[in-house]
Amino acid sequence: MITQEKKKEGMYESVVKQFEKAANAMNLDTNIRKILAATNNEIVVHFPVKMDNGDVEVFTGYRVQHNNALGPYKGGLRYHPTVDIDAARALAIWMTWKTSLAGLPYGGGKGGIQLDPKKYSTTELERITRRFTYALGENIGPDYDIPAPDVNTTPQMMAWISDTFMLTKRPSERSKFAHVVTGKPVGSGGLEGRDRATGFGVVTSIQAWADWKNTTLAGKRYIVQGFGNVGHWASLFMKEKGAILTAVQDASGTIYNADGIDPQDLLAYTLTNKGNVAGYANATSIEPSTFFGLDCEICIPAALGNQITEANADSIKASVIAEGANGPTSPGGEKILAERGIDVIPDILCNSGGVIGSYYEWLQNKQGELWTMDDVITRLEKQLLISFNKVVAASEEYKTDFRTAAYIVAIKRIELAYIQRGVFP
Ligand code: GLU
Repeated sequence: MITQEKKKEGMYESVVKQFEKAANAMNLDTNIRKILAATNNEIVVHFPVKMDNGDVEVFTGYRVQHNNALGPYKGGLRYHPTVDIDAARALAIWMTWKTSLAGLPYGGGKGGIQLDPKKYSTTELERITRRFTYALGENIGPDYDIPAPDVNTTPQMMAWISDTFMLTKRPSERSKFAHVVTGKPVGSGGLEGRDRATGFGVVTSIQAWADWKNTTLAGKRYIVQGFGNVGHWASLFMKEKGAILTAVQDASGTIYNADGIDPQDLLAYTLTNKGNVAGYANATSIEPSTFFGLDCEICIPAALGNQITEANADSIKASVIAEGANGPTSPGGEKILAERGIDVIPDILCNSGGVIGSYYEWLQNKQGELWTMDDVITRLEKQLLISFNKVVAASEEYKTDFRTAAYIVAIKRIELAYIQRGVFP
């Protein structure tokens, strides 16, 4: 089963260790190091919401704004029982590196609500989302902090956020605020292709890795953890490459078929099964603890953080881990992977297609344009390959792993901005 992020400090510890490793390798200016080690703002809101039965429940929501040296804070909102201040902090910091590596004019932020959305009706989720937006108030804004979807949050929820935020403004000004959030449904200012942008980016980075290794994806076996937005879109694009999906794991169970699982067929099944893969007829159910040790060439963790750890890294058979999730590999797990010669395409590169798509949506809204799917996919692929090549070059220059190289590229851009602008006063 997907290990819940029980040790809440786990992801935060990971991001701190990763940062320190990169800061040492690049000899980061000590003053800038102090600035980047801290988060700028941490907002915690408690807000009441009326449930369908008339009772009131009080929820806790978070928004951590790590750094905005390169532009407005940017990053998703997650609805999950494991959301707390440490998780929001870690995820916000990862966003700062991700947007910088992608060359976007953004900083990093992240937040969410500590809840299990499966326990609430759609009307309750709408009231929770709208009241959370209202509670955040001026802490978000199209040129200040721009949320987006993340684990368990949907385009529909983004439409509610946008609508609620606009309604707090003067009628004549409302339309200027639609892009307070990205990942909206197409038709409410959303971008064609934003839905598949993260999964497409994951597969583009796997393809780039394969090219770098002088190999192809056709016939390669891969396993996917999480069949949500990232996992299912990545699987559909892997199918186009001719790769074979042999196992999928989610919170409901683990399914396996050595001859291959058709991602399109599995998706159709999950849509009738509350999003769960368990019970899928064309695969067998296997013991969840065996998942990461399954024989395959490519492993795509696309669920929660801290899934590949010291406890299972030894058993992994894949030659590459493509991090669709944020923080799926702990530093201890990563050390074992490195010793075993297993490559890791780090989250801040591998899943950056999502926030790059968000940037296109934000630009589209700001400029009153409508982009086509072709525009989006072509630009996205180009931008991801630029990032991938920068990471490869930095890993050669600094003789280091891909993650540390990605951090170095990301942090250098921010370091330069601080050096040029100085610190007020
Ligand atoms: N939640 C996604 C991420 O972790 C997307 C963030 C965004 O589009 O702002 O990168």
